[in-house]
Amino acid sequence: MREIPFGRPMIGDEERRAVADVLAGNILVHGPRAKEFEEAFASYTGANCAVSASSCTAALHLSYFYFGLGDGDEVIVPAMTHTATAHAVELCGAKPVFVDSERETGNIDTEQIEAAISDRTRAISIVHYLGMPVDMDRINAVAKKHGLFVVEDCALAIGTYLNGVHAGIHGDVGCFSFYPVKHMTTAEGGMLITQNKEMADRITRQKAFGVDRTPGERSVPGVYDVTMLGYNYRMNEIEAVIGTEQLKKIGLFLEKRKENYEHLERGLRDISEIGLFRSSHDGYRSSYYCLSILLNDALASRRFEIVDHLKRNGVGTSVYYPRAVPHFSYYKDKYGYQDHICPVATWISQSSIALPVGPHLGLEDMEYIVENIKNAIMEVGING
Ligand SMILES: *Cc1c(COP(=O)(O)O)cnc(C)c1O
Repeated sequence: MREIPFGRPMIGDEERRAVADVLAGNILVHGPRAKEFEEAFASYTGANCAVSASSCTAALHLSYFYFGLGDGDEVIVPAMTHTATAHAVELCGAKPVFVDSERETGNIDTEQIEAAISDRTRAISIVHYLGMPVDMDRINAVAKKHGLFVVEDCALAIGTYLNGVHAGIHGDVGCFSFYPVKHMTTAEGGMLITQNKEMADRITRQKAFGVDRTPGERSVPGVYDVTMLGYNYRMNEIEAVIGTEQLKKIGLFLEKRKENYEHLERGLRDISEIGLFRSSHDGYRSSYYCLSILLNDALASRRFEIVDHLKRNGVGTSVYYPRAVPHFSYYKDKYGYQDHICPVATWISQSSIALPVGPHLGLEDMEYIVENIKNAIMEVGING
């Protein structure tokens, strides 16, 4: 039997050596390595500025903190995303206003955004769901008309391009995740990119207590002022060197994902019981985070039997994401959302199974997955 984990960090000798180097020195935080990683990431994405952070959630929170969001403000948030996209808004005391997904991609339904905008709305956030780009021209047009900031949650979007421009550069800010199962990892970590240097400089202070000088910038050691409120959301040097090494390999990782995805998609295409999201479109380039299948209505209620069959045969799966965010207890209890809101996001959360296409896997693994999906559907049919 094959073992096909949903995700596996691709850590090699380069990362191990780099970490050992950092540990052999004296500088674990506030050193040159985080800066080097930031410069490399800015250069890779084509952004003017990159600011490292302790996670994508921290980067999102810092973005709203910089915009000065607070009590009484609202932010448009896609219903089908990681809870972090909404939590970052809540952490500032503002209110997320959820917008449902479109069926073809799972991305925010741009047609429904304007109806959700009120005179309290300050920003639109989007997530490039599973790495498929959102129509940012459309988002920017609505944002411009209403004077709103645009925040791109790019946690699944390293290698996502829209008309040749990397995700995260289309809006005011883009936030990336280096959590272990994402496209590349620093164990925990995140990055924020922006074209606005003033924003990058200020957030660099805000992620480190609002102190006016880093240890390297102090002419007299230990002497500094605190000029603003801030968090402790830095990336350390150990994480940063892992990131720098991972970024050198990202081209290969992305190529492998695309190849696996396309092979898996070909194998699944003619299984009549399942649907697939659109994976290509003129001018759109996905980062192919995973391949989510959408079970038909009859099979959706048997989803966990199918997941279990796959698991018994060594195929790891996941669900992106297990509920539409407004249906998580925290949001439901706080805002009193009803079960019927955001029906498309709900349908995705209840009928999809996310299949792995990561660079730890090869084409035979994809064929093995297809075979086991077919067997699982047959088994459920027989028991049905
Ligand atoms: C994983 C993920 C996050 C959270 O990233 P962290 O680095 O773990 O904070 C945020 N948004 C989306 C869409 C994600 O998939």
